[in-house]
Amino acid sequence: MTVSLAAVTQLPSLSALSREELAAWFRERGEPSYRPGQVWRRLAAGDEIEEMTELPMSTRSDLASAFRSRSLVELRRLAADRGLTTKLLYRLDGGYTVEAVIMRYPRRATLCISSQVGCPIGCPFCATGQGPFGRNLRPHEIWEQAVAARRLLRAEGRRLTHVVFMGMGEPLANYASVVEAVRRLADPEGLGVSLRRITVSTAGLVPRVDKLAQEGLPVRLAISLHAARDDLRDQLVPINRHYPIADLVAAADRYAARTRRRVSYEWVLLAGINDTERDALELARLLQGRLAHVNLIPFNPVAGAPYREPSPTRVQGFAARLRSLGLGVTVRDTRGREQDAACGQLRARVLSELGERASSPGPPGAQPAATGTWSQTARGRAG
Ligand code: SAH
Ligand code: SF4
Repeated sequence: MTVSLAAVTQLPSLSALSREELAAWFRERGEPSYRPGQVWRRLAAGDEIEEMTELPMSTRSDLASAFRSRSLVELRRLAADRGLTTKLLYRLDGGYTVEAVIMRYPRRATLCISSQVGCPIGCPFCATGQGPFGRNLRPHEIWEQAVAARRLLRAEGRRLTHVVFMGMGEPLANYASVVEAVRRLADPEGLGVSLRRITVSTAGLVPRVDKLAQEGLPVRLAISLHAARDDLRDQLVPINRHYPIADLVAAADRYAARTRRRVSYEWVLLAGINDTERDALELARLLQGRLAHVNLIPFNPVAGAPYREPSPTRVQGFAARLRSLGLGVTVRDTRGREQDAACGQLRARVLSELGERASSPGPPGAQPAATGTWSQTARGRAG
């Protein structure tokens, strides 16, 4: 891979510093103890170092000579649902790309955030899972997606109220960074998103579900179930071969007991695969009597994936059947459909438009514009 001079000489990103590191940096320079707090709040607002005019000029210039303000570069922005949905594609340091989606509702705004470039789990219905795995995002790279969304929403007089880890990647496969990012998202001096309004969605890494329950972070847990029998789930969510359904549901129960939070179970509806009477009965048997809620997500077609979306009538019929069997059920709205709603699809489409199929991160100097070159990911194996 050729590395451009610009990439080699790039300054580190100020947002990559933890709060403690920021405090240490200022302490070493004899700055007052309120300085790190000032800078932290400005970073959370998405401001540039040059904009931090409450800092003395000399401090700003010290900062600017040592750091960039942030690391993510917006490559593309698309609107859908008459402006209610915004899809954003970002370039990370090193050239990989990730996407984030903002969904606006009457009294709230939700950001769907990415935690990995690609995904090592490789579910066959998922655009992200089709490509090769790239790399884990660092905490600040996850956090910056929310900072940018908050800034964008604020300009519209809206607040960022909810964050869901349902973008690219398996959050619990990038555990430490995701937990650190969650702490940052919830920091009242930063973005101040309530932990109860942050959802971590997982394909089912059982030991990490237990670990998350011990963190003292009562985030909402969403389990991507999609099948209630192991032979089918082994195919749809390959990590099931390591952590079968019974173990996963037991871990979800422990999570619910420990955090007193209802767990939600996601179910992507694939016509003829997991939308039958048998599936409804199996799911009801599995979840009856549990502190659980089912979110049905009509499959959003992915190029090359051998699945179809059930008809709206069938989707409603499946939901009604589950309700009649005693389950709490919601049918997820199909936000952003015309702009490749399921996370990973904008990126997949842009890549295919550009005819790219690289497994490298692409040129580090990829241009921050719709005409830029961006990268594909390399899928690894789940460990
Ligand atoms: N890796 C995590 C989080 C990201 S995926 C997980 O799997 O839970 C977020 C949700 O989107 C998951 O429930 C996933 O199954 C669903 N999803 C993926 N591809 C989809 C598609 N093409 N149509 C509808 N939902 C999809
Ligand atoms: Fe990964 Fe989730 Fe997609 Fe499965 S559905 S490949 S776990 S992002």
